[in-house]
Amino acid sequence: SKSVSFVYNNEDEIGELLKIYKELMDEVSTTISRQDEFIHNVSHELRTPVQVVEGHLSLLNRWGKEERAILDESLEISLTEIQKMKLLIEEMLKLAKNEHHTMKEATSVISVLHELQQNYFHLSPETIIEIKGEMQVKVPVPPTALEQILRNLIENAIKYNDKKPFIKATVICNMDHVQITVEDNGVGIERTLLPKIFERFFIVDEARTKRRGGSGLGLCIVKSLVNEYGGTISLDSEKGKWTKFYILFPKLTSE
Ligand code: ADP
Repeated sequence: SKSVSFVYNNEDEIGELLKIYKELMDEVSTTISRQDEFIHNVSHELRTPVQVVEGHLSLLNRWGKEERAILDESLEISLTEIQKMKLLIEEMLKLAKNEHHTMKEATSVISVLHELQQNYFHLSPETIIEIKGEMQVKVPVPPTALEQILRNLIENAIKYNDKKPFIKATVICNMDHVQITVEDNGVGIERTLLPKIFERFFIVDEARTKRRGGSGLGLCIVKSLVNEYGGTISLDSEKGKWTKFYILFPKLTSE
């Protein structure tokens, strides 16, 4: 075994020290650029609620405030969006202070899936979301981030689908990982395109994606969030038939 001596006996040791120094610096700069990317993505994610609130407020400002039902609904939606923004901002601030590494937040995947199931029951009544797994299985991710990850996947499963959307979400806990899978019966993705799917601004079919309001950022945000909390994401698909996303998070040691 070799240890680093601070007495430079020969060039080998200086070389070794330089190597260690370089590795450390590489690690530091990787961490910094991953944080930059994460903050970039979160600020993108903040734009949506801001636009929703702006839309409702300008509606009210023009004419909606006379109608009680519109007034109530707009206020309720705005309040929900603002609460989401608040959580996102808090997460960003924690990240900026580098607190997220020591943050030991754990979230039940099934509870977030149930919440989303409720949401989509109203947003897209023809969509069926089937959930399987145990309520007590948790992952080391704050609830807002986990919601964002799963919402993006479910949104795509509905968006890129020509049939009545059927989504199967499963949570499995094995030896040292929690695996979340989200499978749909949508249009699928050509095998050769699978490696590119998480790239920023990557879209499969310009016409179809534009029509469905895609920007090619969703999955890039999903991946960077999953990675941020120590997980990995992959996918498999059969064109015209189905797409399945796999997320792996390290198992929490306290359980
Ligand atoms: P967008 O915001 O355009 O939806 P994403 O990053 O979420 O961007 O997705 C990138 C591309 O991957 C989409 O344009 C779409 O063609 C494809 N895609 C994503 N999810 C699915 C899915 N569940 N089924 C089929 N294609 C998908």
